[in-house]
Amino acid sequence: DADRALVRSLVREVADFPAPGVMFRDVAGVLADTGGFAAAVRCLAEVSAAFEPFDHVAGMEARGFMFAAPLAVHLGTGFLPVRKAGKLPPPVHHASYQLEYGTAALEIRDGVVEPGARVLVLDDILATGGTASAGVDLLQRAGAEVVGLVFLMELPELDGRARLGDHRVESVLD
Ligand code: IMP
Repeated sequence: DADRALVRSLVREVADFPAPGVMFRDVAGVLADTGGFAAAVRCLAEVSAAFEPFDHVAGMEARGFMFAAPLAVHLGTGFLPVRKAGKLPPPVHHASYQLEYGTAALEIRDGVVEPGARVLVLDDILATGGTASAGVDLLQRAGAEVVGLVFLMELPELDGRARLGDHRVESVLD
Protein backbone atom coordinates (compact mmCIF):
# COMPACT_ATOMS: atom_id res chain seq x y z
CA ASP A 1 0.00 0.00 0.00
CA ALA A 2 0.97 3.68 -0.12
CA ASP A 3 2.46 3.85 3.40
CA ARG A 4 4.67 0.84 2.80
CA ALA A 5 5.85 2.13 -0.60
CA LEU A 6 6.71 5.50 0.94
CA VAL A 7 8.68 3.87 3.77
CA ARG A 8 10.52 1.63 1.33
CA SER A 9 11.49 4.63 -0.82
CA LEU A 10 12.99 6.36 2.23
CA VAL A 11 15.35 3.52 3.28
CA ARG A 12 18.79 4.21 1.81
CA GLU A 13 21.09 1.33 0.83
CA VAL A 14 24.78 1.93 1.41
CA ALA A 15 27.23 -0.59 -0.03
CA ASP A 16 30.36 -1.65 1.87
CA PHE A 17 29.35 -0.19 5.25
CA PRO A 18 30.40 -0.80 8.01
CA ALA A 19 32.71 -3.32 6.30
CA PRO A 20 33.50 -4.35 2.71
CA GLY A 21 30.80 -6.61 1.25
CA VAL A 22 28.09 -5.48 3.69
CA MET A 23 24.98 -3.68 2.40
CA PHE A 24 23.85 -1.27 5.11
CA ARG A 25 20.22 -0.11 5.28
CA ASP A 26 19.95 3.41 6.64
CA VAL A 27 16.55 4.32 8.12
CA ALA A 28 17.46 7.92 9.01
CA GLY A 29 15.53 9.15 5.96
CA VAL A 30 12.35 7.48 7.27
CA LEU A 31 12.68 9.33 10.57
CA ALA A 32 13.40 12.66 8.89
CA ASP A 33 10.55 12.64 6.38
CA THR A 34 7.40 14.64 7.26
CA GLY A 35 4.96 11.92 6.24
CA GLY A 36 7.33 8.98 6.22
CA PHE A 37 7.82 8.66 9.96
CA ALA A 38 4.07 8.59 10.62
CA ALA A 39 3.63 6.13 7.73
CA ALA A 40 6.25 3.85 9.30
CA VAL A 41 4.44 3.93 12.66
CA ARG A 42 1.12 3.12 10.95
CA CYS A 43 2.76 0.17 9.14
CA LEU A 44 4.26 -1.09 12.40
CA ALA A 45 0.85 -0.78 14.09
CA GLU A 46 -0.73 -2.78 11.28
CA VAL A 47 1.70 -5.70 11.56
CA SER A 48 1.57 -5.52 15.38
CA ALA A 49 -2.19 -6.11 15.40
CA ALA A 50 -1.50 -9.84 14.96
CA PHE A 51 0.00 -9.91 18.49
CA GLU A 52 -2.67 -7.99 20.40
CA PRO A 53 -3.32 -7.68 23.22
CA PHE A 54 0.00 -6.61 24.77
CA ASP A 55 0.95 -4.27 27.61
CA HIS A 56 4.30 -2.91 26.42
CA VAL A 57 6.34 -2.39 23.29
CA ALA A 58 10.02 -3.06 24.05
CA GLY A 59 12.53 -1.24 21.82
CA MET A 60 16.16 -2.19 21.32
CA GLU A 61 18.66 0.67 21.79
CA ALA A 62 19.13 2.81 19.79
CA ARG A 63 17.11 2.71 16.57
CA GLY A 64 14.51 0.39 18.06
CA PHE A 65 13.69 3.18 20.55
CA MET A 66 12.92 5.57 17.71
CA PHE A 67 10.15 3.38 16.36
CA ALA A 68 8.99 1.55 19.50
CA ALA A 69 8.26 4.69 21.53
CA PRO A 70 5.92 6.30 18.96
CA LEU A 71 4.32 2.91 18.29
CA ALA A 72 3.58 2.53 22.01
CA VAL A 73 1.96 5.98 22.11
CA HIS A 74 0.01 5.21 18.93
CA LEU A 75 -1.32 1.95 20.41
CA GLY A 76 -1.76 3.21 23.96
CA THR A 77 0.71 0.75 25.53
CA GLY A 78 3.77 1.28 27.70
CA PHE A 79 7.31 1.44 26.30
CA LEU A 80 10.24 -0.61 27.63
CA PRO A 81 13.77 0.44 26.67
CA VAL A 82 16.19 -2.49 26.27
CA ARG A 83 19.51 -0.72 26.87
CA LYS A 84 23.05 -1.33 25.73
CA ALA A 85 25.03 -2.68 28.68
CA GLY A 86 26.60 -0.27 31.15
CA LYS A 87 24.02 2.54 31.08
CA LEU A 88 21.71 1.48 33.90
CA PRO A 89 22.32 1.41 37.65
CA PRO A 90 21.85 -1.97 39.37
CA PRO A 91 19.90 -4.18 39.72
CA VAL A 92 19.70 -5.21 36.04
CA HIS A 93 19.21 -8.31 33.91
CA HIS A 94 22.17 -8.76 31.54
CA ALA A 95 22.50 -10.76 28.28
CA SER A 96 25.64 -11.01 26.13
CA TYR A 97 25.53 -12.11 22.51
CA GLN A 98 27.73 -12.68 19.51
CA LEU A 99 28.08 -10.07 16.78
CA GLU A 100 29.62 -10.62 13.37
CA TYR A 101 32.79 -9.15 14.86
CA GLY A 102 33.03 -9.42 18.66
CA THR A 103 30.32 -9.41 21.30
CA ALA A 104 27.70 -7.02 22.64
CA ALA A 105 25.45 -6.95 25.68
CA LEU A 106 22.01 -5.62 26.59
CA GLU A 107 20.36 -4.86 29.92
CA ILE A 108 16.99 -4.01 31.37
CA ARG A 109 16.15 -2.84 34.84
CA ASP A 110 15.12 -5.60 37.22
CA GLY A 111 11.54 -5.07 38.36
CA VAL A 112 10.42 -2.89 35.43
CA VAL A 113 8.21 -5.65 34.03
CA GLU A 114 5.31 -6.96 36.08
CA PRO A 115 5.27 -10.79 36.10
CA GLY A 116 3.36 -12.14 33.10
CA ALA A 117 3.19 -8.80 31.28
CA ARG A 118 2.67 -9.29 27.56
CA VAL A 119 5.48 -7.62 25.62
CA LEU A 120 5.99 -7.01 21.91
CA VAL A 121 9.68 -6.68 20.91
CA LEU A 122 10.58 -4.17 18.22
CA ASP A 123 13.75 -3.22 16.36
CA ASP A 124 14.43 -1.39 13.12
CA ILE A 125 16.24 -4.25 11.34
CA LEU A 126 16.38 -8.01 11.73
CA ALA A 127 19.75 -9.20 10.42
CA THR A 128 21.29 -12.30 12.08
CA GLY A 129 18.78 -12.18 14.94
CA GLY A 130 21.44 -11.99 17.67
CA THR A 131 20.23 -8.66 19.04
CA ALA A 132 16.57 -9.62 19.02
CA SER A 133 17.15 -13.03 20.59
CA ALA A 134 19.18 -11.43 23.40
CA GLY A 135 16.31 -8.98 23.94
CA VAL A 136 13.79 -11.83 24.12
CA ASP A 137 16.00 -13.69 26.58
CA LEU A 138 16.28 -10.63 28.84
CA LEU A 139 12.58 -9.85 28.81
CA GLN A 140 11.70 -13.45 29.63
CA ARG A 141 14.19 -13.52 32.50
CA ALA A 142 12.56 -10.32 33.77
CA GLY A 143 9.21 -12.14 33.86
CA ALA A 144 7.64 -10.95 30.60
CA GLU A 145 5.66 -13.05 28.19
CA VAL A 146 7.06 -12.18 24.75
CA VAL A 147 4.07 -12.21 22.38
CA GLY A 148 6.13 -11.70 19.22
CA LEU A 149 8.63 -9.56 17.36
CA VAL A 150 8.16 -6.77 14.86
CA PHE A 151 10.76 -5.14 12.59
CA LEU A 152 10.63 -2.27 10.17
CA MET A 153 12.84 -4.33 7.83
CA GLU A 154 14.01 -7.91 7.71
CA LEU A 155 17.05 -9.14 5.74
CA PRO A 156 15.85 -12.67 4.86
CA GLU A 157 19.22 -13.84 3.51
CA LEU A 158 20.68 -13.73 7.04
CA ASP A 159 17.90 -15.98 8.40
CA GLY A 160 17.48 -14.14 11.67
CA ARG A 161 14.19 -15.96 12.22
CA ALA A 162 16.12 -19.17 12.83
CA ARG A 163 17.70 -17.55 15.94
CA LEU A 164 14.27 -16.64 17.30
CA GLY A 165 12.99 -20.19 17.74
CA ASP A 166 9.23 -20.47 17.85
CA HIS A 167 8.63 -16.76 18.33
CA ARG A 168 6.41 -15.26 15.69
CA VAL A 169 7.97 -12.48 13.60
CA GLU A 170 6.32 -9.83 11.42
CA SER A 171 8.13 -7.19 9.40
CA VAL A 172 6.98 -4.21 7.37
CA LEU A 173 9.61 -4.57 4.61
CA ASP A 174 12.03 -7.20 3.37
P1 IMP B 1 21.41 -8.67 14.22
O1 IMP B 1 21.69 -8.75 15.68
O2 IMP B 1 22.48 -9.26 13.37
O3 IMP B 1 20.03 -9.18 13.84
O4 IMP B 1 21.45 -7.13 13.82
C1 IMP B 1 20.40 -6.31 14.14
C2 IMP B 1 20.87 -5.08 14.85
O5 IMP B 1 21.92 -4.45 14.15
C3 IMP B 1 19.72 -4.10 14.92
O6 IMP B 1 19.72 -3.49 16.20
C4 IMP B 1 20.00 -3.12 13.83
O7 IMP B 1 19.73 -1.80 14.25
C5 IMP B 1 21.46 -3.31 13.50
N1 IMP B 1 21.66 -3.51 12.05
C6 IMP B 1 22.01 -4.65 11.40
N2 IMP B 1 22.10 -4.46 10.09
C7 IMP B 1 21.78 -3.19 9.88
C8 IMP B 1 21.66 -2.37 8.70
O8 IMP B 1 21.84 -2.79 7.54
N3 IMP B 1 21.27 -1.08 8.92
C9 IMP B 1 21.02 -0.60 10.14
N4 IMP B 1 21.13 -1.33 11.26
C10 IMP B 1 21.50 -2.59 11.12
